[in-house]
Amino acid sequence: MAAGLQRCEGCGLVSRPPAHAPEPRCPRCDTALEFRKPDSLQRTVAYLVAAAICYVPANLLPVLTTRTAAGESSDTILEGVVLLWSPTGWPLSLIVLFASIMIPSAKIVALGYLVLSVRRGWAQSPAQRTRLYRMVGFIGRWSMVDVFVDTFTAALVQLQPLMSVEPAVGLVFFAAVVVLTMLAVESFDPRLIWDAAGANEVRHA
Ligand SMILES: [Zn+2]
Repeated sequence: MAAGLQRCEGCGLVSRPPAHAPEPRCPRCDTALEFRKPDSLQRTVAYLVAAAICYVPANLLPVLTTRTAAGESSDTILEGVVLLWSPTGWPLSLIVLFASIMIPSAKIVALGYLVLSVRRGWAQSPAQRTRLYRMVGFIGRWSMVDVFVDTFTAALVQLQPLMSVEPAVGLVFFAAVVVLTMLAVESFDPRLIWDAAGANEVRHA
């Protein structure tokens, strides 16, 4: 920032916009240049709160309805985890538990912690917090694992005769949690982590 160089989000060109330009734009592709993602914290918090709210019905409402000769049952994620638990099914049961319950809640908690640390202006361990942010982003890319798990579970159940599986309303909230946490990760600007740490230090390259 001290050097005044900015990297274009559109084309990747690094340029030096004229000093005190009110709205610097990329000289190559005319994208607006920003040192920071605009309203990063506010947007991250909004997505996080929405994700945390959707997390409750995602876990309390049934996500799958299965029909058998014996009748119909609608199961929540946790009931699915219990149902799948068997001598042969326990690995799948653990995958569903991690992908559907533990990873989304860990993402919400980790991002909440990062937002709090920036709000409070903590100067300690910015490198670790940047790593945590990168990890949350990396895990986010694997959130879609759930889609495979759910498809796999459905396929597994349908191998048995006289059964059908249908998505139930909880799945909509669950998808919302996945999308909202991804948007929260996307909105958070990791450069904010370093603001407090670098407040009283200017580096000259
Ligand atoms: Zn550009």
